[in-house]
Amino acid sequence: MTIMQSKCDLCGSFSELNTCPACGRLVCSSCFDNTKNLCIVCARGTKFGEKLERDYLE
Ligand SMILES: [Zn+2]
Ligand SMILES: [Zn+2]
Repeated sequence: MTIMQSKCDLCGSFSELNTCPACGRLVCSSCFDNTKNLCIVCARGTKFGEKLERDYLE
């Protein structure tokens, strides 16, 4: 896993980031669910994550 110091895609804070394997977002540790190894959006459910990702790309 690559860890980078950059801006979290979800909350916008600068810290060490984790890459979500499901959506590819770079998220901080507070936006990353370590038990599921997913960002909090993907951890909540795939449909919600897909919708957010589409909005994010537009
Ligand atoms: Zn965050
Ligand atoms: Zn994700």
